[in-house]
Formats: sequence, C-alpha cells, structure tokens
Amino acid sequence: MQKKFLVELEGVTAGYPGHIALEDVSFRVDSKEKIAIVGPNGGGKSTLLKVIMGLLEPTKGEVKVLGQRPYKNCAVKKKVAYLSQQSAINPNFPALIEDIVKLGLFGELGLLRWPSEEQKFRIIKALEKVGLKEMVGEPYSHLSGGQKQRVLIARALVASPSMILLDEPTTGLDVGSQEAILKIIKDLTDNEKITIVAVTHDQIFLKNWAKRIIKIENRLTFDGAIEDYLRGEA
Ligand code: ADP
Ligand code: MG
Repeated sequence: MQKKFLVELEGVTAGYPGHIALEDVSFRVDSKEKIAIVGPNGGGKSTLLKVIMGLLEPTKGEVKVLGQRPYKNCAVKKKVAYLSQQSAINPNFPALIEDIVKLGLFGELGLLRWPSEEQKFRIIKALEKVGLKEMVGEPYSHLSGGQKQRVLIARALVASPSMILLDEPTTGLDVGSQEAILKIIKDLTDNEKITIVAVTHDQIFLKNWAKRIIKIENRLTFDGAIEDYLRGEA
C-alpha cells in the first residue's frame, strides 16, 4: 500500500491576480514532524500555509492534505487548525477567553448552538494546555499580547486537530512570551503527537524545537535537517 502523508505538494504554483507568490513547490509532511518554514519577507510563506489550509487554490500542481484536495474542503478544515499571521480577532473584541476558544469548535457546533458539557470540558482543557485555565472568565481584551496568542493556540487545539499550521506565532512578543509559547508547542508535538508546521524566524524555535527546515524564497530553496540548515547559515 502507498504510504499516506499528512501533506503532499507536487509542483504547486499559487498566487494572486497578476502575481505569482509561490512557484513549483514540492514536499511532503509526515505525521509527528516538527517543521519550521523560513524565508524572506514576501517570499510566499503565508501563501504556502493558505494553500495547505485550502484557502487558496493552486494555479498549477497538486496539493493533498490527508489524501484530499483541501480547497473548500470542510473535512480537511476539521482536521487541520490554522493560526494566521495577523489574527482576525480584534484585540478589543468584547468576549471572554473561553468564548474565543469556543470559536474553534465552530465546525462541530455551528454558530448559534450552546456547547455541551463535554465541549465545555474540552474548552477548559485547551485553556489548561496553554497555561490559562486560571484566567477563565477574563475578558480577552484584558490579556497581554502573549496571553492573547496562547488563547488563539487554545482555539486551534480545541477541536483536536491532527495538524496545526502556525504563521509567525511569536513575532512581536517579548522573550518571556516566546518561551512560554515554545513550551506549549513542544508539549503538543512531543506529548500529544500533533504535527506542527510553523512559519517562524524565532531562533528559540529553530534551536530548541524544529527538526526540519523548509525555506521558501518564491521557490523552495532548502528542505532538510535543522543541523544542516544551521551549518549552512554559520
Ligand atoms: P511571506 O509570508 O513569506 O512574507 P506572503 O505569502 O504573505 O509572503 O506573500 C507573498 C507575495 O504575495 C508578496 O509579494 C505579497 O505582497 C503578495 N501577496 C500576499 N497576499 C496577497 C494578496 N491578498 N493579494 C495580492 N498579493 C498578495
Ligand atoms: Mg507571512
């Protein structure tokens, strides 16, 4: 039987009207991998995550996530969580942190239904995993930038995804918050066996978490072990 990969890209080209952001990119992601995507600003990293998440359709090539084409595919969205670079949540959004996490259950809950006891339990569990269980009942707007990002990670976690895509999860945060997020990501990949693909330039992540580096400069220009990547950088 053919081996099933979590993600398979074969000759993927994608972009926006009049602009090719990503050209002829091919790679595969196995389960339990720890992948950091690096590359210059405007290189196409966020575009790549959008293609994997099914928010953007490739103009050429083939992308498969869990064996299926992700574009406009709800089945894929239930299995893969995504934390975008600029989170869509207004920092002053008038909601409690548990309400934000509940949004991650949208796929199974719909817009208007109340969560069941079991779903409420999972919301608290997700907040516990990011170290914010004690903050239940707190308005989201009262949290620091690092805490807000942890709430958004809890939102990504709550539906028990097989894979989480993170787009610059620690950019703009202080070192303490970066380390707190590193600890959460490590726990998810090492103990929960969740595959994480993270766009990051954060040295803390590259040196202490990532096992594989994919470099995107419009095309894929490096794909290999972190040790080889760091040796090349030195
Ligand atoms: P990165 O995440 O590596 O900084 P992006 O994937 O965001 O790069 O962007 C790649 C290229 O596509 C850039 O030149 C950017 O200006 C362009 N781009 C990104 N998003 C859009 C969009 N919604 N419409 C048009 N061009 C875009
Ligand atoms: Mg980006």
